[in-house]
This record gives sequence, structure tokens and C-alpha cells, in this order.
Amino acid sequence: MKFKRGDELKQKLERFREQFKEHKMTPQRRVVLQALLENSESHLSAEEVYALAKEIDSEIGLATIYRTLDLLEELNIVHKLHFGDGRSRYELCHVSSEHHHHHLVCLNCNQILEVKEDLLHQLETVIEKEHGFHIIDHRVQFYGYCAQCDKTKSNT
Ligand SMILES: [Zn+2]
Ligand SMILES: [Zn+2]
Ligand SMILES: [Zn+2]
Repeated sequence: MKFKRGDELKQKLERFREQFKEHKMTPQRRVVLQALLENSESHLSAEEVYALAKEIDSEIGLATIYRTLDLLEELNIVHKLHFGDGRSRYELCHVSSEHHHHHLVCLNCNQILEVKEDLLHQLETVIEKEHGFHIIDHRVQFYGYCAQCDKTKSNT
């Protein structure tokens, strides 16, 4: 059975209702979630979320976007990410059992790529052993040049 785009979105939004706890799913919050859901592969800054949200609801203000993103972060619905360019970026959290992917940040085109595999279990084991530190999670960002930028660079 095929869902119409609107139905699918509705279902996805429904999923967040529980996570909202005592907070209301206001129309503005819904718009912010919709913008994030429709761009779940990107790592959006608050300004970018604002631009997308405005297309859905032209009345929405930037202050509302900031407040909503803060709330969504508090409710563990979005992750706030920092890639060293002075801008916070946001992405929807994945299902909690899923490992949080790692990020590759291109210093030339600012593109952010994702690495789904987790290759760090061994490193964690070494750290746990040497420092007696019980690791439950990690966040990793690699900085460098994406394949495309690297190619252009070596050609010049
Ligand atoms: Zn690049
Ligand atoms: Zn990501
Ligand atoms: Zn990992």
C-alpha cells in the first residue's frame, strides 16, 4: 500500500508526539519538525531551518525557530552539532538503538558527509582498559577534503 506524501508525514510527526511529553505539538513546532523531516539527510543551521519553515508557514519567526530547536534538543529529538564554523547545525536523532554516525567535514566546500559504519569499538576497549573509564557513546568528526575537492586541488 502506498501512502500519499501527506499521510506519510503525518505518521512521522505522530511518532514524535510521545517524545513531546507534556509539551504541546503546536502548529509552529509541527512546521519545524516537518522542515527537518523533509531534509533529514542535511545538517541544517537554524537559519536554514527558518528558510524552509517559512516556505511552509510564512508567518513563522526566527525567534520561534530558535526556541523550538532548543526544545527539540532538550527532548532528544534533534542533535545539535558543531563543525567548527561557528554555526550550530541540527539533525534529527535516530532511533536510540542505532549507533550515531560519524561526520566528515570538507574544509573546502563545507559539505558534511556521514560515515555509517562504526570502526571505533577497538579504540573504546583500549581506552576503557587504560583509563578505567566506562564509555557509553562517542561523537566523531573528521576534517579534511572530500573526494571532489581533493581531486580539484591536486589538479591545480
Ligand atoms: Zn569538498
Ligand atoms: Zn549527520
Ligand atoms: Zn562510532
